[in-house]
Amino acid sequence: MGNHCVFCKIIQKEIPSHLVFEDEKVLAFYDIHPAAPTHVLIIPKEHIETIEDIPAGDHVISLLAERAILIARQLKLREGYRLVINNGDNGGQTVYHLHLHLLGGRFMAWPPG
Ligand code: 5GP
Ligand code: ZN
Repeated sequence: MGNHCVFCKIIQKEIPSHLVFEDEKVLAFYDIHPAAPTHVLIIPKEHIETIEDIPAGDHVISLLAERAILIARQLKLREGYRLVINNGDNGGQTVYHLHLHLLGGRFMAWPPG
């Protein structure tokens, strides 16, 4: 667990969050500053800082993506949604605990800003 990591504190329930999904390996909760009508963060319970830190052969990304797809279905995002990983400072990453953004409920413009 990352000592000063806000997402590890959410996993430990030291910081409250609006949970959407939880199992042994994954937690999902609503983003505190939603960028879309539906904005959920899907994170591994293991503290991994960035996609660069995923061990070779580890399937954490497919695990997060599978959960995101199930959550999108449960939240009835039938008209589509966007899955995003911001990596590093230029990628817009602000929390250094791996997470997948699930964004939906409106049309997502491309390219992003
Ligand atoms: P990043 O910019 O690293 O890709 O995304 C981090 C996300 O975490 C941001 O969208 C931000 O709003 C969200 N966030 C940061 N702190 C908290 C928090 O304490 N609770 C929740 N629910 N979301 C947070
Ligand atoms: Zn962490």
